[in-house]
Amino acid sequence: MTRSHDLFTQAQKHIPGGVNSPVRAFKGVGGEPVYFVRGEGPYLHDADGQRYVDYVGSWGPMILGHSHPDVIKAVIDTVANGLGFGAPTEAETTMADRVCELVPSMDMVRMVNSGTEATMSAIRLARAFTGRDKILKFEGCYHGHADSLLVKAGSGALTLGVPTSPGVPVALAEHTLTVEYNNLDQVKEVFGHLGGQIATIIVEPVAGNMNCVPPAPGFLEGLRAICDEYESVLIFDEVMTGFRVALGGAQAHYGVTPDLTALGKVIGGGMPVGAFGGRREIMEMLAPLGPVYQAGTLSGNPVAMAAGLATLEGISRPGFHDELATRTRRIAEGIVERARAHDIPMTCNCVGGMFGLFFTEAEQVGNFYQVGQCNLDRFRLFFHEMLKRGVYLAPSAFEAGFVSAAHDEAAVTATLDAAENVFSEI
Ligand code: PMP
Repeated sequence: MTRSHDLFTQAQKHIPGGVNSPVRAFKGVGGEPVYFVRGEGPYLHDADGQRYVDYVGSWGPMILGHSHPDVIKAVIDTVANGLGFGAPTEAETTMADRVCELVPSMDMVRMVNSGTEATMSAIRLARAFTGRDKILKFEGCYHGHADSLLVKAGSGALTLGVPTSPGVPVALAEHTLTVEYNNLDQVKEVFGHLGGQIATIIVEPVAGNMNCVPPAPGFLEGLRAICDEYESVLIFDEVMTGFRVALGGAQAHYGVTPDLTALGKVIGGGMPVGAFGGRREIMEMLAPLGPVYQAGTLSGNPVAMAAGLATLEGISRPGFHDELATRTRRIAEGIVERARAHDIPMTCNCVGGMFGLFFTEAEQVGNFYQVGQCNLDRFRLFFHEMLKRGVYLAPSAFEAGFVSAAHDEAAVTATLDAAENVFSEI
């Protein structure tokens, strides 16, 4: 038996399911999680001495690769002065200036500790700004685990929210309307009925929590127009896409400007960080300037700011995102080509440094239903066979893959060779 197995067994005694975030338990693919002890560039090393090419990247933050020397140095230099003071530090201002410079729709920004806090707070602000309670989200989009957001679709566009998770009060879930991603007609229909009560549309501008599903042409523009018409707040949840699909995020990539933006992952360089920000008149409603309460003991923590700033510095090099996108496409399309050569139907979606692999006959995958129609058994088999060959993919068919700048020729070749080997055997 492996050390990972022993560690997982031990973990289950005092940690629910043995994990501190559910997807880590490998429920989506079966089997048991791998315990890692070290990350270096594109690689992870497990507790049994195996090395893997990593396409999870800590679920997005590790866009420079693991243990990037500049990020590690920034953290160590900062730690030497203490771990945090619960008082303002200059690094927070540097971070705010940098974020607002890179994402011009953000006039002001507040730091938090996770993507969940970022979206939760953005929604509170949108509700306060509009004086409305209802929010509209899309099926298959994940925005963290705040109560209002843990709601999926009922049976159609106008169905009121059904709590996805027990523990979400029905009275709250009723205010969350859910429609199909990439379906503007459904959005228009809901707004036609309830537009005057809807505070905000929150959307992943590239969906990365139902595998990777890009917005259809005109979708984001349409959401912008509807929000303008009904005076609702448009929130882009760029926790995943921010600084990853382009330096300025998906809003720069697609040229659509939201009112508020939620950030996470890359902005913390691997430390627990999120942020939200946007139009000045909305952000000025936040305490202590305004009446909307939001706070955090560890928010803007200096060590976290150091890791984030070093990461933002690393990705600001000219050409960074073009190279990342090219490499990402080569990997995903390379895997698809190899599958098809063995008569295994497969397709992929890629945007910047994000990709999605789908075992399906369909040419395109554009919403949650279509993702669910893919051959999930084949994905599970593929996942485990790749793992055996030293490639660590996200342990779920509903998660996007992430490529880093450290995925060099050797890592790419190892990945494509492993895929070729798997497809020739399954
Ligand atoms: N929004 C999006 C788009 C996400 O992908 C995630 C996490 N995967 C979150 C919000 C929540 O972020 P966190 O896990 O940091 O709370």
